[in-house]
Amino acid sequence: MTNRVVLIGHPVAHSFSAAMQQAAFDALEIDARYELWDRRQIDLAEAIAELRGDDFLGANVTIPHKEHVVPMMDRLTDDAAVTGAVNVISREGMKLIGHNTDVTGFKAALDKVVGKQKMPRHAVVLGAGGAGRAVVSALISEGFQRIVIFNRHLHRAEGIVRHFSKSASHMDLRAMPWHESVLEAELSKTKVLVNATSIGMVPGETPIPAELLPPDLFVIDLIYNPPVTQLLKDAASARCTTLGGELMLLQQGARAFELWTGKPAPVEAMQAELDRTREHGLRRIAVDMGPAGAAASTDGTASSHAAGEPAPRG
Ligand code: NDP
Repeated sequence: MTNRVVLIGHPVAHSFSAAMQQAAFDALEIDARYELWDRRQIDLAEAIAELRGDDFLGANVTIPHKEHVVPMMDRLTDDAAVTGAVNVISREGMKLIGHNTDVTGFKAALDKVVGKQKMPRHAVVLGAGGAGRAVVSALISEGFQRIVIFNRHLHRAEGIVRHFSKSASHMDLRAMPWHESVLEAELSKTKVLVNATSIGMVPGETPIPAELLPPDLFVIDLIYNPPVTQLLKDAASARCTTLGGELMLLQQGARAFELWTGKPAPVEAMQAELDRTREHGLRRIAVDMGPAGAAASTDGTASSHAAGEPAPRG
């Protein structure tokens, strides 16, 4: 029986996870297939229920469902419970376990960008979705003393502050409205800036005007496609130290692979596939559009593969 792992989100076609994880299964000759399931929130519970089947090793969860799946899990690991978001699901018999490997992935990115310098204590986080939660969770556990979250819809940032009220009771965690003057004032006081919004996935778009960026910040953009976003270009021009989302993608993915298979992840094969994807584009993989939709594929063409049928590779 070929084992299955799926990415559940809306949309999913842009994701590099399928290429990276399939390369890992192939490198270790594990008989498993990574599939892309595009599901709206209304179809989410049904998709999660399907994962209890014997053929599933587990799943990844992405935009915008990382918080929605939390109550659908039988058990949460500490990182997922603390964060309030799940990006990896593993299976123990019929039980579904929710994990958050974005937290570990982000810590690896933070360590890399800070390098040998002293870990800063103040950060500005843009975005309050599932990724924003993982970033805040990681920053709190790294000992940050002041974290300011900006989000288009302020109430979501305030929700994160409420969620972390206990674990952040010793420090200053606050939500602020997304006004340029407020952003500018905060950026002048901080050392770390993290973009955890999806603004920048379209080349040229940026969450922050270039002139607001002070020099000498550590700037991490969670977006990995494009590998260098407009924010990172502007930050490099302002003499900031910058890092894109690929290292986090690799590290969260390696941890996920280990949770599904119980084997050490073949990180070099995964990195090689990311390099190949960046250079030559995504391989064509069918996207299962769920109960209501027709199948599409990662290269944007219509697919002859109906929902639920095996996704072709290459
Ligand atoms: P969510 O859908 O949960 O959150 C999206 C965030 O982006 C929200 O804060 C949302 O604000 C904001 N946003 C979206 N569009 C706009 C807009 N037009 N203007 C202002 N704000 C906007 O997604 P995730 O948190 O899961 O992911 C966020 C980003 O992080 C994505 O680009 C994703 O690819 C990346 N990511 C990268 C990872 C990696 O390993 N490198 C891991 C996880 C995520 P609002 O709440 O107001 O709608």
